Amino acid sequence: MATDTIQFEIQKTTQSRIAEVDFSNLVFGRSFSDHMLVSFYEDGQWGSNKIVPYGNLSLSPAIASLHYGQTIFEGMKAYKNSDGEVLLFRPFDNWKRFNLSAKRMCMPEVPEEVFIGGLRELLRLDSAWVPTGEGQSLYIRPYMFAADEYIGVKPSDTYYFIIFTCPVGNYYSKPVKVRVETEYIRAAEGGVGAAKCGGNYGGSLYPAKLAQLDGYDQLIWTDAKEHRFVEESGTMNVMFMIDGKLVTPAVSSSILDGVTRKSIIAVAEYWKIPVEQRKVTVDEVITAAKQGRLEAAFGAGTAAVVSPFSHIAHEGVDYELPELTPESFPVRVKEFLNDLRTGKTEDIFGWTLKV
Ligand SMILES: *Cc1c(COP(=O)(O)O)cnc(C)c1O
Repeated sequence: MATDTIQFEIQKTTQSRIAEVDFSNLVFGRSFSDHMLVSFYEDGQWGSNKIVPYGNLSLSPAIASLHYGQTIFEGMKAYKNSDGEVLLFRPFDNWKRFNLSAKRMCMPEVPEEVFIGGLRELLRLDSAWVPTGEGQSLYIRPYMFAADEYIGVKPSDTYYFIIFTCPVGNYYSKPVKVRVETEYIRAAEGGVGAAKCGGNYGGSLYPAKLAQLDGYDQLIWTDAKEHRFVEESGTMNVMFMIDGKLVTPAVSSSILDGVTRKSIIAVAEYWKIPVEQRKVTVDEVITAAKQGRLEAAFGAGTAAVVSPFSHIAHEGVDYELPELTPESFPVRVKEFLNDLRTGKTEDIFGWTLKV
């Protein structure tokens, strides 16, 4: 197959750490599987492609990414079906988005043989790390960073591309309280909001912390010019059920094109639920909440899949959302996507890829 044409140099671990992991009590992002993929870009190509035991890197303190933030990442998940086969969910969408992020950040693209081919190789080696408990999966973190030892603002000539993986459980367990942010912003039009680049997340920590001090779990970001339009929630896309319709902000240069978001839209359309992708005002969401027409609101992203909101706060007032039932859209769509990812329901959309 075309995706397997690059030879990865594989150095296997002599001492698996899998027995040290408590799979019944997984904390998100704290356990790391035995191996990682490490590719190095220099002289205009990805010349060095290895799979090695997970471990520390040795880097110069002057590498460009640590100073000027030329760094991007992806987040995706692998699951096991009942036959024990490892399934990836829409990995080509992550690969394409990674290369869009790379372009925006003036970094080289990663070819399919390295990203998809290398990932499959890595997962074959560490398939025992893909957990099978309820809500569990193997979180996959591909990322790239500028590696030139040089202090000066310019695109680097050398880069690392790395993939490591983490067995994880459920991300959020209960519905979250969110606040509409009207002072700080996450991204502006023409900026880098549509790229998964490191700085977007560093910049979001302080406003999120202020909200947490006031008792909220997460923010709803609004547009940079007027704080009038809803953009995203935390590090997720945001969706609303209003009057039986699924309403979500259209993607733009300040909104990330989420794989979970577009999967949920496709499932809603398949279920014949009307979908509106357009500019969404804070005002219409709050008015719908006041009038009892806001049936549900939730974040959508790979880590949590669906993260329903219990309250939305705006200008000092908390609006409570209806309690979820097994029939609520966020509950149904989350279950449907999880069943599809784990091979429990037929993959009618052709979204899964066997490793
Ligand atoms: C990763 C991310 C999302 C969700 O994207 P998925 O492909 O669904 O995981 C949404 N918004 C932001 C800002 C993100 O970083």
